[in-house]
Amino acid sequence: MAAVNGAVENGQPDRKVPLPRPLRSLEVKYTKIFINNEWHESTSGKKFPTYNPSTLEKICDIEEGDKPDVDNAVEAAKAAFQRGSPWRQMDALSRGRLLHKLADLLERDRVILATLETMDTGKPFLQAYFIDLEGCIKTLRYYAGWADKIQGRTIPVDENFVCFTRHEPMGVCGAITPWNFPLLMLVWKMAPALCCGNTLVIKPAEQTPLTSLYIGSLIKEVGFPPGVVNIVPGYGPTAGAAISTHHSIDKIAFTGSTKVGKLIKEAASKSNLKRVTLELGGKNPCIVCADADLDLAVECAHQGVFFNQGQCCTAASRVFVEEQIYPEFVKRSVEFAKKRLVGDPFDARTEQGPQIDQNQFDKILELIESGKKEGAKLECGGLAIEDRGLFIKPTVFSEVTDNMRIAKEEIFGPVQPIMKFKSIEEVIKRANSTEYGLTAAVFTKNLDRALTLASALQSGTVWINCYNALYAQAPFGGFKMSGNGRELGEYALAEYTEVKTVTIKLSQKSS
Ligand code: ADP
Repeated sequence: MAAVNGAVENGQPDRKVPLPRPLRSLEVKYTKIFINNEWHESTSGKKFPTYNPSTLEKICDIEEGDKPDVDNAVEAAKAAFQRGSPWRQMDALSRGRLLHKLADLLERDRVILATLETMDTGKPFLQAYFIDLEGCIKTLRYYAGWADKIQGRTIPVDENFVCFTRHEPMGVCGAITPWNFPLLMLVWKMAPALCCGNTLVIKPAEQTPLTSLYIGSLIKEVGFPPGVVNIVPGYGPTAGAAISTHHSIDKIAFTGSTKVGKLIKEAASKSNLKRVTLELGGKNPCIVCADADLDLAVECAHQGVFFNQGQCCTAASRVFVEEQIYPEFVKRSVEFAKKRLVGDPFDARTEQGPQIDQNQFDKILELIESGKKEGAKLECGGLAIEDRGLFIKPTVFSEVTDNMRIAKEEIFGPVQPIMKFKSIEEVIKRANSTEYGLTAAVFTKNLDRALTLASALQSGTVWINCYNALYAQAPFGGFKMSGNGRELGEYALAEYTEVKTVTIKLSQKSS
């Protein structure tokens, strides 16, 4: 995510500027369900634990929302959206000011939020601070600027009619978020939804509810009217499904696995045909041509796959390298991987923390085993770090072929499969022969090659000579089974508005 923040290059903070320090003993204040700007216990009386994946210790218990709590949240969001409500009567410019104020509070509480994110996800604190929080603040400010600029059009018809469009908010929007970038993925949904004038019911991932709940306290402090933002922590098949099947939710935005994305789309079809945007998995090609700047390509491919413990839908998890430079590329990639510092995510030197939970950890190790069995060459790593819970050694495989599971399945872990290619036509075919289509990257100094690949690759984003260059103002989303719709940029406004055509017949007929 190099470009989300000037202080970060390729996932690493600039160590020349003074570094922020995490709060070592932070008390978790917000653990309840947030509805109507108030904190509630769950209707069932149930709670669920959230763990620190670095230490495997329980951080605290969280109120466990389920269908009745989602119903209450939806009622609040519906009431907040009603005609005549303070939210609907608010001048669009004032909506933008509330979003700017929220960004101000994220800046004020940046260390608290980054600390909470590191406790709950295990991601290195400096990455949480410089990348996740920076992305959140920029996204809020970007959409704050849009709030009073969402305009319809006047459409020429015949002279007896006046015709125009209004871009209206959709109503109550559901947001179901993942555990890999809990706060950032929430803000990617919340900022455009609110800037367009919608209300929200949010369900954070059960592994990582802490920063989303903290946002509830900031929503109240900023002065959003009650019911505009509601947050129901809980599990996917219960609280999540209650959102995706709800008849009074008009739109749902989801980031997570393709498997659950399909369930959500199905639930939307079976309930009220609510609008759906999905940001799902990826098996993203990273193509390195023989004429590339090799230092740049090796480092970007390394950060591209290992960033965030490999737990990124954008992960560079199929590296295709032109045969002339293949041995050198593998050698340098292995050197990088061996140097990667794995450990306590609160330590400023740490580049890689633990995987999120036992399920993901087991799945990654199982895929690593499949790579060994299927004949890929294990260059380094390939194991868990002994006695250290959920930490996995940065792993590089060479001699990978397209039929191997590590070349086909999303690994979501610190594993770099490197393949070889001979010609551009060949690599285009191989890169596109996947059901995913989220991102692709190309490293070359040849403009013609770069543009040919940019047009031929079937993915929502193509990076040329860079990786994870994400901007609040540039759309992000997938082709094929990587998703539906786009987040970020002006394009996301269309995902949070309905277009209404108003046609007026004039009584003065032309003679
Ligand atoms: P992962 O497999 O990586 O944990 P998921 O796609 O399962 O990712 O989870 C992403 C989000 O989807 C989480 O908030 C999770 O609770 C939610 N979720 C999981 N199952 C469902 C479901 N059946 N309906 C709605 N949301 C779900």
